[in-house]
Parts: sequence; C-alpha cells; structure tokens
Amino acid sequence: MRSNAVDAALRARAAEVIPGGMYGHESVGMLPAEFPQFFARAQGARLWDADGHEYVDLMCAYGPNLLGYADPEIDAAYVDQLARGDTMTGPSPKMVELAEALVRQVAHARWAMFCRNGTDATSMAVRVARAQTGRRTILVARGAYHGSDARFTPVPTGSLPEDRAHVASFVHGDVASLHAAAKAAEGDLAGVLVSPFRHDAFVDQTMPDRAFAQAVREVCDRGGGLLILDEVRAGFRLSRSGSWTSLGVEPDLSAWGKCLANGHALSALLGGEVARDAATRVYATGSFWFSAAPMAAALATLARIRDTDYLERIERAGARLREGLARAAADSGYVLRQTGPVQMPQLLLDDDPDFRRGFAFAEEMIGRGVYVHPWHNNFVCAVLTDGDVDTVAAAASDAFAAVRAREGTLVPHARLAARLAR
Ligand code: PMP
Repeated sequence: MRSNAVDAALRARAAEVIPGGMYGHESVGMLPAEFPQFFARAQGARLWDADGHEYVDLMCAYGPNLLGYADPEIDAAYVDQLARGDTMTGPSPKMVELAEALVRQVAHARWAMFCRNGTDATSMAVRVARAQTGRRTILVARGAYHGSDARFTPVPTGSLPEDRAHVASFVHGDVASLHAAAKAAEGDLAGVLVSPFRHDAFVDQTMPDRAFAQAVREVCDRGGGLLILDEVRAGFRLSRSGSWTSLGVEPDLSAWGKCLANGHALSALLGGEVARDAATRVYATGSFWFSAAPMAAALATLARIRDTDYLERIERAGARLREGLARAAADSGYVLRQTGPVQMPQLLLDDDPDFRRGFAFAEEMIGRGVYVHPWHNNFVCAVLTDGDVDTVAAAASDAFAAVRAREGTLVPHARLAARLAR
C-alpha cells in the first residue's frame, strides 16, 4: 500500500490556514482522491510528490514546463540575474532585450509589455482593445477560459453581472455563431478574444480550420475591433512564431504566459502597430512586472525555441504517446478520445458522461507512477523520452485493465458532478 502520510498531514494543516484547503484549479476535490496535492521536486519530465513517489508528468504544471523542469541553462540564466538584481527600483536592460527578442520571434508583434500571469495579459489586452477602438463589446467563445479576472472567471462567485457587461459569446469554430455575435455587437465591437484552438475543460478539443480563423479576422476588420489571440496555454507548443501563422491569420494583440520563461513567473502582451497608441495610454503596472530574473529566463527559453528542434521533439513524443494510449485503451475494450494537437492531448473516454471511468483511469495511472489529468488537456514537454512514453503506455495498459475489473463498482465523483451541474 502506497503511503501518502506526508500529503495527508499537509492537507490537514492546509485546511486550517488556506481557505477550502486549496483554491482555484487546485481546489480540493476536483481531482481523484488518490491524487497527491503537494509536490516536493520536479526535474525534466518527472515529478516527485511530498511522500517521495515519482511520476512521469503529463501536465507540465498546466503548461509552464516546455523544455523540462529545472532546465540547467534556463535556471542558470535566472539565478545569474537574481544575483545581479531581480526586482529593483526600475527594469533591467533585459526588458528591452526580451521585447526585441519577442518582436523578432512572434510574426505579428511590433511591441511587448510584460506582466506576471496569463490573466494579467488577457485583461490588459481587453483594456488596450477598448482604449484603441473606443468601443465596449468583447466577443469570447462560450466556455473558453481566459483567466480568473471578474470578466472571464468560470465561477462568478463574488463578481457582479456588471463585471461581465459588454462581453458576448459565440461558439469556437462556428462561423455562423461568430457572425451572429458580431452582428449583435455592430457599432460597438472592441475585439474578439479567442484561443488558437478550443481547449476547454471537460470536453473534446477541436482544432480551428482556416475558414474560422479567417472569419475572426474579417469580423474584426469589418467591425472595427481588434483580434486578440490568447496564446497563454498554446503559445510555442503549436508553433515557434504564433499559433495561427500557419493558417495565414495574424492577430492585432496576443497574450502569452505559462511557458514563456519555462516555468518562471512571466507573461506578456504583444501587439501590432494598430494597438501601439492605446498600449501607450493604458495604465498597466505591477510591483513585479519589471522583475529581471524571469526575463533572463525567458531570453534563454526563446533562444532554445529559435535554435533547437524542441517543437519537433514534442510533436514526436506526442504522436508516440497518442499511439501508445490508443492501443492500451483498445486492448481493454475502451474508446479513448484523444483530441486536440498531440502536444496538448485531451483524454476522455467514450460512454463516460459523469467521468467515473476517466477518474478511475487517472487514479490507476497515479498508482502506477504517471500523472495524467482526467478532464483538462495534458501537455507534452520537449524532454519526454521514448522510454517515458513507453512507460506511460505500459502503465495505461495495466490501468485500463484495472478499470475494466472495477466496472461494476465505479461511482461518479461528487464534487465534479456538482461543478458540472452548475
Ligand atoms: N488564458 C488561457 C488560455 C489559459 O489557459 C490560462 C490559464 N490556464 C489563462 C489565460 C490565465 O493564465 P494565469 O492562470 O497564468 O493567470
């Protein structure tokens, strides 16, 4: 029997001093009970929980781990800058170097502003779009996550309907619904905020086609709004320069975060000339938005994005993973829906409306040393080896067989059911 005594003790202490024991996407009860809450260490593609159990990690910290946890070169750049000066009375030269590097790297970008979390960048993007256009309405895809800001939070507790005024929705990938939303916003369209593909929690992911991306561009051009691409989750995992570049569509603004500094706290708003004036006028700041160490880490990360085959390695590992998981599921008679790009797979089972089978599979995987998420997309990093993938596939084969053996006893997960019912 695996011991989780350290994790259990930490959970008990957390319940006293952290509201709910933990909050947000780490809230207690949204994952199988067997999942560890606390981690002691991370290296490469692996995690160790507080009790010392080792996992091949398919979550990558929900995205920030692109090139491997504790990458020696990137962390050395961070530590070196930390020793020179991190949060100072003003920015370091690294800020200019990083803005230049991003403008070179990301096709549409002509300028950059920096912040800390993805939410900072998406919120700033909305303000810039409204300032630039003098309009109010922002169109977003129904069910999409763009951060915990009162305008976009999926759990509106503590926010007001007024916070979400002038935010209207369409269906990601559906040109007709986009056109209908744009028509309703006619004369008041400030922008369309959209993720590169549909990567919502709890549902299959869908890739946008060229026609949808072009329709978003046209709606903005015709309606006088700005196209804001939310690259916070997908950025640099689909492309080195911009997730819609291969579709021939460029945004006016793009929000970045997560893997920008390979795990160090940094996000960015990038923009084209059309939004430079408004970006100059909005009041954007934060005590840590000028800190130099994450910027040094981002420069090292960008050098690797530019100069190495990191993306092809992620794609190769992701394709091998997809094959291995499909085989493992089929062997036990399950249909595993693996949707979205191989770099960011959503793994959902057929015939599992209340996620009881998916939760059981994730539990069985945890017990076999693999951290896989039952309702959020997973992430592949560049140092996930063929050996790691084969370990995952072998674990999945055993895990599906174990779920099959538990079929008659599986029950829905109460907290998740309550959340889905809302
Ligand atoms: N946009 C997207 C697409 C995201 O996935 C996230 C975070 N999951 C955010 C914005 C918000 O980023 P953060 O959690 O860093 O504030």
